[in-house]
Amino acid sequence: MLIEKYDLEVFTPPCEPGAERFSAIARLVTDISPVLPYLNATLRGAVYTQSANVLTWKKGGHNLAFHAYEIATSNVEDREAAIKELDGLIDLVNRTWERRAEITPDHTTRQRPTAMAVYKLLPGTNCRQCGQPSCWNFALKLVASQVALAACPPLGEPAYAERLAALEALLVPMPAIGSREKARGNG
Ligand code: SF4
Repeated sequence: MLIEKYDLEVFTPPCEPGAERFSAIARLVTDISPVLPYLNATLRGAVYTQSANVLTWKKGGHNLAFHAYEIATSNVEDREAAIKELDGLIDLVNRTWERRAEITPDHTTRQRPTAMAVYKLLPGTNCRQCGQPSCWNFALKLVASQVALAACPPLGEPAYAERLAALEALLVPMPAIGSREKARGNG
């Protein structure tokens, strides 16, 4: 296990006094730099900057950042959710590290796909079967990792097979953040 202990801090950003959104930081005693290329290879939409030794990722509207000795999340709705999310991220790091022999590390800096690039590949019929008011709204949620491609039934039709393949290539699959065994130290 790469991360066995960490200190957890949850706070409301000082620039937003009274805001109902929370940020949280897990301060680590272990340098997790070696796992960043493996996370870069597996997390959809992650942006890894090797020179700065940082990987950022957006998930569910939350901004996440992995540094050598720190993992941070922001824009979380409540304190408990922030703690739970960081627990999940610690678990993600540990599971990715344990699986590293199966993963080809990626040291490149990928550009996050834009909503427009994704939108252009969607059927464009605004049929609302995905539960969104339009294909554009669905594209926005796709790039924020808030929905899955499978939520758009028309993409499963043969006529859209090429577009689906292009979307799958653009939106590299990411592993789910699952629950983890409690291994938090001082947090
Ligand atoms: S189900 Fe697909 S085609 Fe229909 S609105 Fe949603 S994204 Fe567009």
